[in-house]
Amino acid sequence: MVSPRRWLNLQEYQSKKLMQDSGVTVQRFFVADTASEALEAAKRLKAKEIVLKAQILAGGRGKGVFDSGLKGGVHLTKEPAAVGELAGKMLGFNLTTKQTPKEGVKVKTVMVAEALDISRETYFAILMDRSCNGPVMVGSPQGGVDIEEVAATTPELIFKEVIDIFEGVRDDQALRMAANLGFKGPLEKQVMESLKIVNLSLKVDATQVEVNPLGETPEGQVVCFDAKINFDDNAEFRQKAVFAMDDTTESDPLETEAAKYDLKYIGLDGNIACFVNGAGLAMATCDIIDLHGGKPANFLDLGGGVKENQVYVAFKLLTADPKVEAILVNIFGGIVNCAIIANGITKACRELELKVPLVVRLEGTNVQEAKRILSESGLPITSASDLDDAAKKAVAAIAKK
Ligand code: ADP
Ligand code: MG
Repeated sequence: MVSPRRWLNLQEYQSKKLMQDSGVTVQRFFVADTASEALEAAKRLKAKEIVLKAQILAGGRGKGVFDSGLKGGVHLTKEPAAVGELAGKMLGFNLTTKQTPKEGVKVKTVMVAEALDISRETYFAILMDRSCNGPVMVGSPQGGVDIEEVAATTPELIFKEVIDIFEGVRDDQALRMAANLGFKGPLEKQVMESLKIVNLSLKVDATQVEVNPLGETPEGQVVCFDAKINFDDNAEFRQKAVFAMDDTTESDPLETEAAKYDLKYIGLDGNIACFVNGAGLAMATCDIIDLHGGKPANFLDLGGGVKENQVYVAFKLLTADPKVEAILVNIFGGIVNCAIIANGITKACRELELKVPLVVRLEGTNVQEAKRILSESGLPITSASDLDDAAKKAVAAIAKK
């Protein structure tokens, strides 16, 4: 199952572009969709060493494995000629890392970048932290591919600085972070430059900016080698340029389709589809199904101001999941008029030739009319008196099959 999306997530190359634009040092890079483009990019880079990086919305790529047999989503080479062949074993194949589902994620883009020697890898991130009511800088001198391990075994090597969201990062905080990360002398100043990503994070409404590794080169440069930025979806209205880069191909296609109709779809792993209005009712419905020994397959939240067509689309989406063996409708009509829901349901049942049992619990505005529409439809719809009754009937409908 693809995990439900909460925040816009960009690919590394897109994040790095944003960082570049705000004056943070990253390596020179090109992006390619085909092996021959990757090869061309490698030649054009004219770098002493090249790094080829698979672009997926998950970390741990360095230690990942492709279903082409290739090991490692990040490859270093001095031979531009080797890049084409390597890219050929990445593009179009699934890469599995610690952070992806088991079957991995298909790689559609690679980044061809200048590689630099790294003498030390540190970790640096800015997170929106609820307990601090704002941004927090998090850093560790032990960065690199195993930061989760560092946090678990040596938490004393993780340093935090709480940032005042109005004031921004103070110099003394930046200096202390630089020292905690182990940067000395002239490097301290450079680290403070890199801390510009704090300003970037605020400017673009990021919920998280993670640079792992923030590395030091033998020549004495501080460079962001990796970048992962998540954005607050509530800021979409004022971050049009950022959200235009949204790549939904790694999201659950049902969620993306639902969003087009102003519906919220969340996939789960049981077999009862839930059609509800409001997140609270969705939670309660899932809980009560659970209580009666069933498991929700998904839930679709209809929200307020419903149109008949949305009900139809909702049913289409709910039944598109082959795991679904029964549908439970639990709508509380406040702003929503139950008769509109009932008409939507009967239309959907007829046009989609619904094959699974349907249990409907409607309550609230215009519910008498809604019940009349359902009972006069002649469709095999089981009506329920309350949520408890509805959940029981949905679970029983599956057990009977
Ligand atoms: P991930 O976090 O998904 O594993 P990274 O971008 O952090 O991917 O790359 C993994 C490792 O590869 C880094 O920790 C670093 O050691 C190395 N690496 C990444 N980019 C470069 C680069 N431009 N030059 C040299 N080494 C690099
Ligand atoms: Mg990394």
